[in-house]
Amino acid sequence: MSAAHHGMPTVKCVLCSSPARFQLPLPHTGVWRCDNPLCHLEFAYPQLDEFQLRAAYTGLYYPVDNGEHIVRYENTPDFILRQVFQKIDSSFGPLEGKQILDYGCGTGALCRLALDYSARPSGIEADAVARQTISKERLFEAYESIDSLQRARGDVRFDYIFLWEVIEHLRKPWRELSRLRKMLSPHGRIVISTPNSASLKARFLKGRWENYANPTHLYYFAPRSLRRVLEAGGLSDIIQLRFTIRYPHHSPPRSAAHRTLVAFGLDGELLYSAGLPSVADVARTVGCE
Ligand SMILES: [Zn+2]
Repeated sequence: MSAAHHGMPTVKCVLCSSPARFQLPLPHTGVWRCDNPLCHLEFAYPQLDEFQLRAAYTGLYYPVDNGEHIVRYENTPDFILRQVFQKIDSSFGPLEGKQILDYGCGTGALCRLALDYSARPSGIEADAVARQTISKERLFEAYESIDSLQRARGDVRFDYIFLWEVIEHLRKPWRELSRLRKMLSPHGRIVISTPNSASLKARFLKGRWENYANPTHLYYFAPRSLRRVLEAGGLSDIIQLRFTIRYPHHSPPRSAAHRTLVAFGLDGELLYSAGLPSVADVARTVGCE
């Protein structure tokens, strides 16, 4: 029986226009999935409007405490970012001297760490309070938008552009990817991390999975749909960076369990890298560890 018989709206995939199927009710919206087996993009429908989104961001991400301390809701610990940098360093060459852009840099944790690798980081962050934190430190520049970066820096090119837990927040991520792609140096790479909606946790918790529950998330990516969105942004040579993050506080059984999840693609995060079409057209996977 079609969704229309249940009083459901007819919803089409925002990426490929194929019919979408209702998956899951959430307090703030519904989760829909594209029926096209080559796409299977999972998205929030309807998306929150600008006013609702701003309210959600203010409450969740940048609560101002005593006008001084800003706490980011989802803060990737430095020890994880360090392992990611090591992986990039060993997969694509040394980070030293490289121009790095962190799109959606928050209060600048990734850029600050890039300085430890003698890279040259810059950030883009729409939130003014987060940008203020960065400008006080005077370690690197953070710009409000792609436009303001280009006004200040002209035709600057980057060796790495990071979208770290950011792509799931964008209304039409292929638009930003397409703009960012044009800011890559010839051998530059985009590096993306996003929650894995095909993870064991997501499948088990459903609507209670923190990434469905988070009202600022507009997409819920699995490997196939993330690849499709990267392609729609004109990117190529798409590689899944598969590796096991070492958690120093995990017991050996817990570490073994985590390695098993990674081996079956059921762990919590997707880490992908993509480059310009001229580099190579064949997707490949970099092996574990
Ligand atoms: Zn689709």
